[in-house]
Amino acid sequence: MCIGCELSQQLSSCFSQAVLARAGTTSRRRVLQAGALMAAAAVAPSLLQPDARAVPAEGEADWLFEGGTILTMESDQPRVEAVAVRGRTIVYAGDRSGARRWIGANTQRVDLKGGMLLPGLIDSHVHPLLGALFRSGLSLKIESREREVLDSIQAYVKANPGTGVVFGNGWDSNLFSSQGGPNRHDLDAISADRPILLMSSDLHSAWVNSKALEMAGITAATPNPAVGEYVRDANGHPTGYVREAPAMLPVINALNLLDPGTYGQLLRSLLLQFSAMGFTTLFDAATPFGQEAIYTAVEQLDQRSELPVRLHVTQTVTSEQDVDGAVKRLSELHQRFGAEHFCISTLKIVGDGVVENRQAALLKPYLEPAQTYGRLAISNQSAEKLLKQCQQAGFDVHYHTIGDASLRQILDALTAVRKQGINPKLTLAHVQIADDADQQRLARLKPLITSTGIWCIRYQATEQAIGTDRYNKMFRFGRLQRDHGLNVALGSDWPATYASGTLGIEPMLNVQAAILRQPPPPLLDAMKTALGPGASEPLPPMQDAFTLEGALEAYTVAGARQLGIDAITGSIKVGKRADLCVLDQDLTAMPTDRIYSSRCLLTLMDGVARHDARPNAVRAQS
Ligand SMILES: [Zn+2]
Ligand SMILES: [Zn+2]
Repeated sequence: MCIGCELSQQLSSCFSQAVLARAGTTSRRRVLQAGALMAAAAVAPSLLQPDARAVPAEGEADWLFEGGTILTMESDQPRVEAVAVRGRTIVYAGDRSGARRWIGANTQRVDLKGGMLLPGLIDSHVHPLLGALFRSGLSLKIESREREVLDSIQAYVKANPGTGVVFGNGWDSNLFSSQGGPNRHDLDAISADRPILLMSSDLHSAWVNSKALEMAGITAATPNPAVGEYVRDANGHPTGYVREAPAMLPVINALNLLDPGTYGQLLRSLLLQFSAMGFTTLFDAATPFGQEAIYTAVEQLDQRSELPVRLHVTQTVTSEQDVDGAVKRLSELHQRFGAEHFCISTLKIVGDGVVENRQAALLKPYLEPAQTYGRLAISNQSAEKLLKQCQQAGFDVHYHTIGDASLRQILDALTAVRKQGINPKLTLAHVQIADDADQQRLARLKPLITSTGIWCIRYQATEQAIGTDRYNKMFRFGRLQRDHGLNVALGSDWPATYASGTLGIEPMLNVQAAILRQPPPPLLDAMKTALGPGASEPLPPMQDAFTLEGALEAYTVAGARQLGIDAITGSIKVGKRADLCVLDQDLTAMPTDRIYSSRCLLTLMDGVARHDARPNAVRAQS
């Protein structure tokens, strides 16, 4: 299901010059879910410490929260009645009477009105850096047909006059198939002067006009890259239908979409959407290209106090060719980039692919095609080597595992290096399929885990691919969290989620799905029939469903532990940073099947309101 990871694998291949052995045609699944996709170097140690000594005994708070349910995620004081914030620090968490001494003339008093205050939410596996680029601009509907798509583009260009790039996404890659794919002439008729670049909904293709081709210098004489192509007419001229990332990147670069100024604004507008959902920290799980431009943009945003979330990013390994030099490259980036809320200190290893294209590595074959097993991205020796190198360099490892063979690889590697006295900090992402023996090993070895709530639902295509036995034992981590004390975090893996737009990011949609293991109504509506029969029934085993408390922990303090920032965020505790979110409803007092409907009213990151949608409130600074 992880298109984000998969995409990073694909995009990075053109930088490593590796030829991507990609499974043939675009799967039905990817088209359907498509509406769907597509360092701390500078951080002084003191910034990662709580401000306990700096907390005054009394004084005037900038913010005071009371009048609702406040969950702290601290075991010795799980609920409090009031929280006070001064500057960027939580200075009080306790009963209401004790909070009075913090009230001053300039204190913003927030009456929760029966709603809820939580620590700021953490998405512990998501792809905003790619998503900002690929999901920006015009958003076409995947169900739109040719005429409707052209009308939408025309209307968008009219509504957004100027001379800049027209960028968009979302067209169904089966459009215009009778004429060999989309054609630049249709876009030229809408605008011949402005470059137009429109990504297909599965992000494997782009549709560009003549101006964009001209700016990129792509002509009949331009050879195709090793992977992908510039589709051509009978005379050999590019038609404007560009297939696969290696062919698209020259156009993306020529249109300056990765210029720090252009890109920074795309990123900021996306990150504000995360703020509006209550997020204060994001773990970006892949930056496969354009790192310098992207990280420069992030640094500039943070220096201008315009980065609304803490952002942690990775160096990515997607194949054996990437292994040598990966940790060295991470070190370089770590030393070169970073800001107070921006950190690069994790190596991401894409251990295998996904079930949909049969690239998830399995111990026993897929049901169809018969006798196929998927494939591991790197050797067992390399997995072990990278764990060791990262531990020695002080970096975390984040390993994508969908199939049970990749899970075995990484657990074997972890066991081997621990025998040598080396204990790397390892997070396993997704953990979709686990052999029973490895499920038991997970309980013993206790790696950190992150996965996605809305993946824990029925999807018939997966059952057809792997068979009912394995299908009925997927995503087994509720018990690992509850009974075995594993640190299990949740994230969205957006834009690798089902529905179009930003629906898949919605944290409470994911929380509800993690608890009920069935799709909340907006997700079911968005996916319509794509999930297959029985989609509204829960996905077994129900013993692995999260509790509400477990799911909220997974969206807060567990994510902070995963990122190594739990000393300053992830829970409500005096001395920690004021990363907080206010919800309009009390999740502990409402039916579980309505959790998805709760909304974030206010988000503070480092004591600053980054989102404020309270009705009738005097707006705070933003
Ligand atoms: Zn992944
Ligand atoms: Zn991912």
